[in-house]
Amino acid sequence: MPNQFSHPTLSTQAPSTFLTLTLAPAQVICGVGVLQGAISAVAGLGSRPLIVAGKQTLAITQQHLQPLLEKQKLHVAATDYGADCCEASLKSLGRTAKEHKADVIIGVGGGKALDTAKLVAYQLQLPVVTVPTSAATCAAWSALSNVYTEAGAFLYDVALSRCPDLLILDYELIQTAPPSTLVAGIGDAIAKWYEASVSSGNSQQTLTIAAVQQARVLRDILFQKSTAALQEPGSEVWREVVDATILLAGVIGGLGGAQCRTVAAHAVHNGLTHISGHGSIHGEKVAYGILVQLRLEEMIQGNQLAAAARQQLLKFYAEIGLPQKLGDLGLGNITLGELQTSAEIALNPNSDIHRLPFKVALEQLMAAMVSTTAPIDSRDTTSRVAVRGMSDEVEE
Ligand SMILES: [Zn+2]
Repeated sequence: MPNQFSHPTLSTQAPSTFLTLTLAPAQVICGVGVLQGAISAVAGLGSRPLIVAGKQTLAITQQHLQPLLEKQKLHVAATDYGADCCEASLKSLGRTAKEHKADVIIGVGGGKALDTAKLVAYQLQLPVVTVPTSAATCAAWSALSNVYTEAGAFLYDVALSRCPDLLILDYELIQTAPPSTLVAGIGDAIAKWYEASVSSGNSQQTLTIAAVQQARVLRDILFQKSTAALQEPGSEVWREVVDATILLAGVIGGLGGAQCRTVAAHAVHNGLTHISGHGSIHGEKVAYGILVQLRLEEMIQGNQLAAAARQQLLKFYAEIGLPQKLGDLGLGNITLGELQTSAEIALNPNSDIHRLPFKVALEQLMAAMVSTTAPIDSRDTTSRVAVRGMSDEVEE
């Protein structure tokens, strides 16, 4: 039986006198071709929207969304979000919003465009609408924005005061995105189980227990339906997987909140952004990070369940095209120095990697990062597996 004193850093935070929940968007409008019909809901939030879009989506936005808004007699301005969800972009978008006298922000695009739009709205205390154009993350739902450098290196995240005021999920828009974005979304969403079960698996709090159980349900849905979904974009099973990556992943983040944080998979992602910049997308690096996390549990704790889970994921990744090793992320030729840099960042003192129930040394993390595809060795002692795993990868 888990008892509340066995993991003091994980489950016995001092009871707080109040709790702020950011569970869900105030309204979610979801369906095929719903964008047009959802415009009146946007008009209910403001009359001078500023659209913040991804570079590629801006042209489509100006062609399709802007005329719909203007028909409702809204005064629209539109701009792209810049180099990344970075401080320079946020500053310049804040100025643009003020010049336009914007009273509502509409984010249109992938995770970075939506994170930028949400953070600008939060800084200006304006309502925000999210219109995801890919299923690569649950950014359309969450009350969180990740801030990066202009070159795409992760800096910090900002907890927002609430989820978006309106989320418009139009499957027709999602279907225009490259299929690889849904694959990445599956990687980011499935991480919820592997991270939440470690950070919060012993929690006695009702909503946290609910979040961890939903993460398990989410994992199972993705195992069962991802392959079929990717074969038939636009089909019912495809929509169900899109719902899983954008909506259910969002629900879990909302329910779990700060108690149900990320662990090593996202920490490894954060480290990798410092050596790969914009070279691969968030969910791809996170998916690889799950394998690193399981490898650590396997090598350091001798955790056989983690070893089995890694083999199960490797098979699943091969089926749907998620990266299994650094080479699959375009990082097959990095130097030892670069590997060390990314591992050091993943291990920085504020990193969520320290939510693992054991200490991780730099060398252990580096060994795990280069041995994500190592076979299970039943005769195993940890150091032998680590060394063998590393030489396997180097020889490739
Ligand atoms: Zn993520």
